[in-house]
Amino acid sequence: MSMYDIIAAKRDGRELSAAQIGEWLRGAVAGSVPDYQTAALLMAIRLRGLQRAETHALTQAMLHSGAAIDLSDIDGVKADKHSTGGVGDKTSLMVLPIVASLGLKVAKMSGRGLGHTGGTLDKLGSIPGFNWALDVAAFKKQVTDIGISIIGQTRQLVPADKLLYTLRDVTATVDSIPLIAASIMSKKLATGADVLTLDVKFGSGAIMKRIEDSRELARMMIEIAADSGVKAAAVLTSMEQPLGYAIGNALEVREALRIMEDDPELRGGDLHTVVVALAAELLRLGGVCESDGQARQLAARQLANGAAREKFTQMVRAQGGDDDFRHLPRAALVSVVRAEADGVISAIDAERVGMAALESGAGRHTKEQPIDAAAGLILHCKRGQRVRRGDTLAEIHCSGAERGERAAALLSGAISVGEQAAADAPLIAGIFTTDQL
Ligand code: URA
Repeated sequence: MSMYDIIAAKRDGRELSAAQIGEWLRGAVAGSVPDYQTAALLMAIRLRGLQRAETHALTQAMLHSGAAIDLSDIDGVKADKHSTGGVGDKTSLMVLPIVASLGLKVAKMSGRGLGHTGGTLDKLGSIPGFNWALDVAAFKKQVTDIGISIIGQTRQLVPADKLLYTLRDVTATVDSIPLIAASIMSKKLATGADVLTLDVKFGSGAIMKRIEDSRELARMMIEIAADSGVKAAAVLTSMEQPLGYAIGNALEVREALRIMEDDPELRGGDLHTVVVALAAELLRLGGVCESDGQARQLAARQLANGAAREKFTQMVRAQGGDDDFRHLPRAALVSVVRAEADGVISAIDAERVGMAALESGAGRHTKEQPIDAAAGLILHCKRGQRVRRGDTLAEIHCSGAERGERAAALLSGAISVGEQAAADAPLIAGIFTTDQL
């Protein structure tokens, strides 16, 4: 079938075969299929969708466009985690040390942050000396020796994703759920884990604003995992407001350390709850625990007894980072945003808070932009909390007054004080697993 016929078939709502999908993708990566035909097919997919078999075939074709990592020579169950991205989302810094402290092997390749969401690599990169550019041999050796390593994605990993994403970005097709599912899962499958937990966010700070869309994305990713022989769980979690209180790289590492030091102020809060839920899914899928209740108890215990912190510190040390966390960078300027009236925090728009953090210097608009590891925000409030005029709503950490003013302007618009808060969506709105299929 010619490329013209493949595009026409999808335009008319017909199902493509795995052979047709493979032919298209191989041609697109090799350059024999021009970008304008790939762009047309992406739009047809955006409008017509993909069936389960097509999404699986696309994921496999993307996965085989590059060099997958082979972890089969590392003993034990290999675990990985992915988040669809949020504001203040630092769960990987805790979930992965928890499961590594209980014997699962964590070989994670992570991305950098872009736009209003942060990336795990930038958070780890705020630790002086931390090296996330290990080569694959050193990465695997560290996983064998201490059970955990987190590095950046290699260039060879799923080159088709880079091509498709660049075209989706300029053709209004980023928001296609099957394309997102194939993009995420091809990268996850390429890093060779046996068990996987997916944190699928919904709400103002997430790519999926609507809970129904996040449910659909979760279902598709779980189907892809099952069709590829990987055990996975997708946990739907709320991003209606930022997770925890800190947004910004070094600030988030400090908050993660507080959770791993069992700080009573954070114990049982939203961040702690999501971390425990995500870790528990990995422990259950990885065969460490049988029941969900037991797995949650065990995950919480590893936070409370210092085992997760110890594993995190071992990883930092092994990757050249300074394990005296008092040396994490601090911003030169700290200013505050105060409540202008008495009332109740009725909304905290996570996306706008993310933009404010970006303005403070904590994020980047383009992949090349440098970031300020010390910059960011610390919220002093959560939805539903009562405040009085003059109370501090948030701190802004930055390097200069101009940045601080831009961040403050965005932040004041992001935090609403009213008479009451609308009913909250549940923090954890559902869990889908491959063993339910
Ligand atoms: N994250 C990805 O990796 N890919 C997408 O398409 C969207 C979010």
